[in-house]
Amino acid sequence: MARVNLDGNPIPTMAICMIGGGGFIGSHICEMLMAETVHKAIVVDVSSDKINHLLDKSLPWSHRIEYHQMNIKNDSRLETLIKASDLTINLAAICTPADYNTRPLDTIYINFIDAIPVIKFCTENNKRLIHFSTCEVYGKTIGSFLPQEYRKDPEYYILKEDVSPCIFGPVDKQRWSYACAKQMTDRLIYAEHAENGLKFTIVRPFNWIGPRMDFIPGVDGPSDGVPRVLACFSNNLLRGEPLKLVDGGQSQRTFLYIKDAIEAVSLMIDNPERANGQIFNVGNPDNEVSVKELAEHMIRAYAKVSDVPTSSLQTQNVSSEDFYGKGYDDSDRRIPDMTNITKQLGWKPTTPLDKLLDVTLQYQHQTYSRAINKELSKPSN
Ligand code: NAD
Ligand code: UDP
Repeated sequence: MARVNLDGNPIPTMAICMIGGGGFIGSHICEMLMAETVHKAIVVDVSSDKINHLLDKSLPWSHRIEYHQMNIKNDSRLETLIKASDLTINLAAICTPADYNTRPLDTIYINFIDAIPVIKFCTENNKRLIHFSTCEVYGKTIGSFLPQEYRKDPEYYILKEDVSPCIFGPVDKQRWSYACAKQMTDRLIYAEHAENGLKFTIVRPFNWIGPRMDFIPGVDGPSDGVPRVLACFSNNLLRGEPLKLVDGGQSQRTFLYIKDAIEAVSLMIDNPERANGQIFNVGNPDNEVSVKELAEHMIRAYAKVSDVPTSSLQTQNVSSEDFYGKGYDDSDRRIPDMTNITKQLGWKPTTPLDKLLDVTLQYQHQTYSRAINKELSKPSN
């Protein structure tokens, strides 16, 4: 039976060019497209490691997915692939805070400069664009600058697409180069829409987490690499090391399960009339914890899936300068206002934090514990 959209209209089959589609979020979108739709995925990325399980020629959808190994910085095939598609989804980014200080040029280029041709090709060829921005564009909350008693007022910390200001730290705090680059891209897309009629949707993910996020240092990524917090804490747990709380782990985040998030992306793909011209926060305001509390939840979840008792898993405070180097700064709090996405697409997240951590740590343990135990049992020189 033909699939229908939220307005009851049949969904036309689309070819979707997914730039950066071989990453964490892209791999989950690809899985959803193959399992639940008849759309075609044209995946562009420098690596296919996270989608190789979908590329096997014997799979029933093999005629609906193709992978192009490509660096979008300098490859003339990009325009041809965008032209051949009905929709482009741009996910290509450097989005790991440890890189914002150590690779600031790459961060600015991929998140802004290299996105310019993507936007231009979409406008010129009259193609729809779903662009992945970030909750980081809001920067710090107004509340973080106010005395404690004012911080309780949601007006000073809830982040709303068409109301909240974007508050960044100074230039030498290079964390904000990512936020600035992403914000310029949002503004360029908006300007292309205003002047040239680009059909766009901007997605602002609020800490989507789940299986296949980032890498475990020394197993499927560099041993001195620093991934995002889920993979950092998973790595600590797998190795029996203390979980490192940067500046005491006081910053707060809301975490959204990747499977919930993909439902939102799917609605955007299939409902252009409701999604075009919109900026959507996509997060789970009910899953707010401090980073310290996240560590405690992860310790409990990991103890359930491994033989390791919670009493042997600890946390340890570290300074941000020791952990990330000079120039680090942080977002204090990120709670998404969900009015727009609920109104336009009727989407609401459903998975509570403990459930999503149980599933994710089960995956981390199954995927990595053997490799780590092998590494740890090697005699040290
Ligand atoms: P990711 O790092 O797993 O995916 C990004 C992908 O882009 C990677 O596979 C990378 O190889 C690819 N890429 C980078 N430079 C490229 C280039 N020059 N040419 C081709 N491919 C290139 O990250 P993710 O978590 O999947 O994030 C996807 C998007 O969502 C990003 O734009 C990110 O800023 C945004 N985002 C994600 C989150 C989250 O919670 N995961 C939060 C905020 C924003
Ligand atoms: N963090 C931490 N320990 C780690 C890794 C990260 O305390 O091992 C903190 C980091 O300082 C930030 C939060 O966890 O306050 C989330 O970091 P992440 O890298 O996931 O990205 P962000 O949400 O800041 O974009």
